[in-house]
Amino acid sequence: MLRRTKIIATLGPATDDPEMLDKIIKAGVDVVRLNFSHQTAEIHQKRLDAVRACASAHGRPIGIIVDLQGPKIRIESFKNGYIILNEGEEFILDTACPSDDGDQQHVGITYKQLPKDVKKGDILLLDDGRIVLKIQEVINGCIRCKVDIGGKLSNHKGINRQGGGLSAGALTYKDKADIITAASMQVDYIAVSFPRSADDIIEARQLLQNAGSKGGIIAKIERAEAITNSEEIIKASDAIMVARGDLGVEIGDASLPPVQKRLIKQARDLNTIIITATQMMESMIENPIPTRAEVSDVANAVFDGTDAVMLSAETAVGKYPAKTILAMDRVCLEAEKQPSVRISKHRLDTKFGRIDEAAAMAAMYTANHLNIAAIAALTDSGSTPLWMSRINSSLPIFALSNIKSTGSKVTLYRGVYPIEFDTSLEVDMMHVNYAMIEELVRRGVVSEGDLVIITKGDLKGISGGTNSMKIVCVGQHSLDDTVN
Ligand code: PGA
Ligand code: MN
Repeated sequence: MLRRTKIIATLGPATDDPEMLDKIIKAGVDVVRLNFSHQTAEIHQKRLDAVRACASAHGRPIGIIVDLQGPKIRIESFKNGYIILNEGEEFILDTACPSDDGDQQHVGITYKQLPKDVKKGDILLLDDGRIVLKIQEVINGCIRCKVDIGGKLSNHKGINRQGGGLSAGALTYKDKADIITAASMQVDYIAVSFPRSADDIIEARQLLQNAGSKGGIIAKIERAEAITNSEEIIKASDAIMVARGDLGVEIGDASLPPVQKRLIKQARDLNTIIITATQMMESMIENPIPTRAEVSDVANAVFDGTDAVMLSAETAVGKYPAKTILAMDRVCLEAEKQPSVRISKHRLDTKFGRIDEAAAMAAMYTANHLNIAAIAALTDSGSTPLWMSRINSSLPIFALSNIKSTGSKVTLYRGVYPIEFDTSLEVDMMHVNYAMIEELVRRGVVSEGDLVIITKGDLKGISGGTNSMKIVCVGQHSLDDTVN
């Protein structure tokens, strides 16, 4: 059985060992994430080259995401690297404090506008909520706080405001430069951190296109405002990520589960890819097995319909990257056996907007109601397999394309498997049918007697041209009976 839910692994020092990289890819990584919050473009380029070499050695495309740092607001540094804050103490976030001069009384901040965005009574959460500060007074570029929850506070930790509402735009100067780097790396997706509205996504897409890239855009939902504007953000994006780390700090941890469920449903209903991220296997940073709670968390995201589950520190700096991928793989596979994720009532009562969309829907409806072994979609843009993948099913959707970037883009789509497929040598579409089936047989994914659904257009190389579906019995098809 092929796993339908895709696994994203963040690369880092723990996967720089070529043997470990090979192991995690063998264990089932579909997409890798280069986290531009850390390290230099040269290091990311090295990692990218290693992944591409490994992917081609294994004969399957691996999708690449560049995750932009975004306007994460941070404290600057302490003279001694860290301080210990105690409950009830006073502590000042001070725009005038030199960057490495923090001490027990005050520390600098990266976002000099912060005093304008906050007021007395606001709660600031530092280091993903581990430290809680309550604002007493904002005066002359100083945010004077009282420590509500103390602890160790070290250099460069993040600052969030409970409830959101900070003014920083989504794309920083560094992000704009990184978009150009990402375009030159020919990556499949860039992830925009902390978008507030569709405008942030539209701006990122424009910059990416200006840099000559056709990559997709992932909107990371990690601000309170992004929840309010989720529909317009989803419509402007190719994928969204439930970025539970920052989001949980802004909206409160108890609000995360219902918001995650709602976002998964909303994204699927709007034909958009959805990624569930952060702390999914957190304990495996240190331990070789996950907790029962983590197993349940991953399985529940699969039950709800997530396209992908993402690992961050677990693979980037954890002790057991390969064991983490294997654990995710087995949990997803088991969850996918549940009837509720194999049967669909999706869109039975909605109209379709396009011919290719209708063909994709007809194929899935038929596939789920006839004894079909596989679906083979001949695609240029990947839109037909995207629509298909919004429908619950237990059947593999093979996306056959001679466009390399389409192959690596669909690595993120639930239940879709890319196959590099060259139609240029086939004399007509009749021969293409034949060659598609032969390719699936050659790969051992279908065999004689199996029923396969093919979707494609009349003309080769036309995006959005899918207008037909055909049911073929493997072994009984010949050139004569594949005429449309
Ligand atoms: P990050 O985003 O890992 O880049 O912070 C994910 C999250 O906030 O959950
Ligand atoms: Mn984040």
